[in-house]
Amino acid sequence: MKRLILFTVLLLVSIPLTAQKLKSNKKAVMSAVDSHSESLISLSDAIWAHAETAFEEAESSKLLADYAEENGFTVERGVAGMPTAFVATYGSGKPVISVLGEFDALPGISQKAKPTKEALKAGGAGHGCGHNLFGTGSLGAAIAVKELIESGKISGTVKFFGTPAEEKFFGKIWMVQDGLWDDVDVNISWHPSATTESDVQSTLALVDFKVEFYGQAAHASADPWNGRSASDALELYTTGINYYREHIKPSTRIQYHIQDGGQVVNVVPDYSKIWVRVRDPKRTEMMPVYERVMAMAEGAAIMANVDHKISLISGIYEVLVNRAGGEILQKNLELLGPITYSEEETAFAKKIQEMTGKPQIGMDSQIKPLEATKEDPGGGSTDVGDVSWNVPNINLSVTTAPKDTPWHSWAVVACGGMSIGHKGMI
Ligand SMILES: [Zn+2]
Repeated sequence: MKRLILFTVLLLVSIPLTAQKLKSNKKAVMSAVDSHSESLISLSDAIWAHAETAFEEAESSKLLADYAEENGFTVERGVAGMPTAFVATYGSGKPVISVLGEFDALPGISQKAKPTKEALKAGGAGHGCGHNLFGTGSLGAAIAVKELIESGKISGTVKFFGTPAEEKFFGKIWMVQDGLWDDVDVNISWHPSATTESDVQSTLALVDFKVEFYGQAAHASADPWNGRSASDALELYTTGINYYREHIKPSTRIQYHIQDGGQVVNVVPDYSKIWVRVRDPKRTEMMPVYERVMAMAEGAAIMANVDHKISLISGIYEVLVNRAGGEILQKNLELLGPITYSEEETAFAKKIQEMTGKPQIGMDSQIKPLEATKEDPGGGSTDVGDVSWNVPNINLSVTTAPKDTPWHSWAVVACGGMSIGHKGMI
């Protein structure tokens, strides 16, 4: 029940202390976590039920910030120009150690805490990435460290960063730009997962931009020769992108979402809009592809005889892996051992696997051996990447859902609202 927080705290206290003192600090951490586990679970469940999406996490952010304040942290709210971003600080002097928390949900995947698909609120959002657990577990870790500082067992400063909108707008990039990690010595992060490991893999850098085409409206049948079609440009543009795929490295990905392709069939559309994303394991490899895909918009505009405008939305770096930190983390994970599950929890997991067409093998919380860091890690992207280029970052994945669970899905939401998720968080 107290593995994650205990684990994180072990990492923090392990560096400067003798073996004897370490032992007593580990005990102190265990009791600190024990004393907070019930409140942390209620906090996580409340955030799970609110399921607020990017930049709308007012209640979730407040719940975490209030709990930090109740526990003696000084909280600065609305940092980096974002109402739901905050920093909670306790202690003084070096070292300064920070723990990251996220708390935004995903639209359209509302789900009850049950192993068959059933929305809690029709059409609503759900915590399909487990960020209710992420934010709460990280704050719990910061509080356990604070209690060690308070009791005089260790000295230094602990910070909890409440980081909004990870799923859509990447709130951390503005917090990094504002220098919020400038005085931090090491940052610790974790993420809910279907496996448990010290995470030494990077993620994909990405860039997001939108292209808008501006033409001339006309009657689609009576006088189409008077029209210049913004949707023709859109189609020519995506055709160009799709031809280009053959000539990029397999590790580079291009995705797009058509956001406006005209409204009705009897009008030549004078406006269209597309959201484009380029990803690669290395930002340096991504940049030339990004520049080429941007340039292609001009070609499409010329062919359709329309105007175009490109606007940058956002961009993030790949995670810079810190293997030294990962090795320390691995030792502490092995010390704690895997999570154990009740028969009811295993049955819940197997039902989820049945419903998602996966082998019914239950949970996997075995501690994975430390992997070699791969050149092409695959997977997704995270704004933790930008933090990792500014301060050494250590990352943990903990089992909060059954093996092979489709991520960003109702099944993850279901587990995050019951004991399988709670156990991973603690
Ligand atoms: Zn996530």
